Formats: sequence, structure tokens, C-alpha cells
Amino acid sequence: MSLASRLKIGINDFRPQFAMLLALLGVFLLAPFIIVNLVNSNYLLASGIFVVVVTFIYLNFIIRRNHKRVKLVGWIIAPIMLPILLFAFSQLGIKGALWLYPAVIVLYLVIPIIPALIINVVLVIAVTLMAINLLDTDIAIRLVASLTAVNVFIAGFIFVLEAQQRYLKHLALTDQLTGLRNRTHLHAKVEELLALANRAKTPTSLISLDLDLFKRINDTYGHAEGDESLKALAKLLLERIRKTDMAYRMGGEEFLLILHDTDLKGALNLAEELRSKIEKSAEIRTTSSFGVALYQHGETFSECLKRSDDCLYQAKNSGRNCVVTNEVEVER
Ligand code: GH3
Ligand code: MG
Ligand code: MG
Repeated sequence: MSLASRLKIGINDFRPQFAMLLALLGVFLLAPFIIVNLVNSNYLLASGIFVVVVTFIYLNFIIRRNHKRVKLVGWIIAPIMLPILLFAFSQLGIKGALWLYPAVIVLYLVIPIIPALIINVVLVIAVTLMAINLLDTDIAIRLVASLTAVNVFIAGFIFVLEAQQRYLKHLALTDQLTGLRNRTHLHAKVEELLALANRAKTPTSLISLDLDLFKRINDTYGHAEGDESLKALAKLLLERIRKTDMAYRMGGEEFLLILHDTDLKGALNLAEELRSKIEKSAEIRTTSSFGVALYQHGETFSECLKRSDDCLYQAKNSGRNCVVTNEVEVER
């Protein structure tokens, strides 16, 4: 197992990965300062740091249990960290201000960019107002300037990182020839999709589609023309299905449609319509075979996919260019 997979580093948001670092930072770097402040009889600050450490550990706990909870972090962390940072600054002067730098970075690493930016601007303004009273002018200017520089560079870095992440995610989940979603997308999303269907008890149907004798298209017209046929098919599928439906290229000349809120009758009608359109299409240049299955609430996705694939296989054996299902109208 690679380090990336052990740390669950995937194509999703990087922020949950920092939850554990935050807790470690709290325990090993901040906790000793609770003792330092207790020894110096600075009880209020000691209590403040204690609250921050407990918050970091708590956030690690909730985020590790559910990554989606990372969105809550800003609401918890900012109102706790900001007053304590400013209090430390007012009590300790420039010594307290040194903690502002890691705090700025932490805020960007755990809160979405826009709220993090807003919180940090508020922080810099508050620090500026306080620095005028607390510090010599030349130190105050350098503190505000350096804090602004850290802000600009971290915000810029996160901005570029997120744009790259979106692009890589798109690349990883999209079939580059047809622009349809690929198998990786299917595996990443299918559980969520079926959970929704199971909860709402809405009918969900699967259509497996395979172009007929596609090897001949390549052999007759060349691979590049074969590619054009696949693109034309993808375009036709996207034009016809609903926004809530999903179209996947499963590999080669094999496609899968997942139809949300569509019963067997609806799926059979759509498959038949597609079959007829493909047959007539001058760009696709060949016919297509279909297998249709109705998702049975509670079953796994693979079970349902196997049924639609089996039907597709039967369609091929029945002479191709047809739609086959083994399901009955009423859900079993
Ligand atoms: P059947 O009706 O039984 O499905 O016959 P078929 O010829 O379509 O099936 P087979 O699985 O034997 O061949 C699939 C062909 O699809 C072979 C392969 O060269 C072609 N193919 C797969 N991916 C691509 C692609 O990305 N571009 C092109 N041009 N051809 C592809
Ligand atoms: Mg084929
Ligand atoms: Mg095939």
C-alpha cells in the first residue's frame, strides 16, 4: 500500500488530510505553552491555549469519522482561534504575534479559500489596529507587511492547487475521447447514487450498450474514423438523456446509462429509441445492441450491472441490433 493511499490522498479535497496534523500540532507544539503560561501565572492565556488544543483534537476526531464534516471546521475554528490569538498578541506583544504566522497557514489549510481569505483579512485588520498601540511603529509595519505577504502567497498557492485539483479530477473521471464519464467515476459515485435511489425508493434503470461489429468499422474506415463514430455516439447519448441520468464509457465501444427515476418501461422505450437513432445515424455507421435491467432496491450495483450485461450478451446472440431485458414490470 502506497503512502498516498494509506493517508487516503485521492482526488478529493485535501483539507481533511490536515485534520491529524492539526491535532499533532496542538498536542506537541501548543500544549507545552499551557504549562509555560501557568508557570507565568497567565491563567487566561493558558485556558485559551487549552481550548485551542482541545478544539484541534476534537476537529481531528470529527473529520476522521466523516470527511464531509470538514465544512464545519471554519465555523468552529475561527471564532475560537481568532480571539485567543489576538489576546495572546495583546498580552505578549511581538512574542504573541509570532503565532499569527502558523495560524494564517492553518486557516487556509482547513477552511475553504473564500471564507479563509475573509477571516484572514479580518485578522490582519485587527492585528494592524492593535499593532499601532502595542508595538513600535517600525516593528508594527514589518509585522503587518510580513503577515500580508504570508497571506498573499498561501492564498495564491491554495488557489492554484485547487485549480490543478479540479483539472486532475476532471481528467481522472472523464473519458478523453468521448468526454463521457469513465469507470473510475462510476465506482466513485455509484454507491452515493444507489443510496439515494434506496432512500427515495425511486426506480433506477441500467442500459448496457455495445456497438455491433465495431471492429469492422476500424478495419474498413480506419481507427480515426472509428473514433469519430464513438464521439458521434457519445453526442447522441448526451443529447437524448436527462440531466439526472449518467452516461459512461465502460471501455472500447461499450457504454452504460444509469437512468434516475426511470422504470423498466421508460428504460426500454429509451433503449429502443436510441437503437433506432443509432441505426439511422450516418456518422455512427453501425448498429447497436442493448441490455436493460431495473435496479432492485437493496441489491449491489454489480448484481444489477451483471443482469444488464447478461441481457446485452443475449442481444448479441439474438442477431444484434436489438434490445433485451429479462426483468418483469413489477419490482421483485
Ligand atoms: P460485437 O458486435 O460482438 O460487439 O463485435 P465487435 O467487433 O464490436 O466487438 P469486439 O469486442 O470484437 O471488438 C471491439 C472493437 O472495438 C475492437 C477495437 O479495436 C475497437 N475499439 C475499442 N476501443 C476503441 C477506440 O477507442 N477507438 C476505436 N476506433 N476503436 C476501438
Ligand atoms: Mg461491439
Ligand atoms: Mg464490446
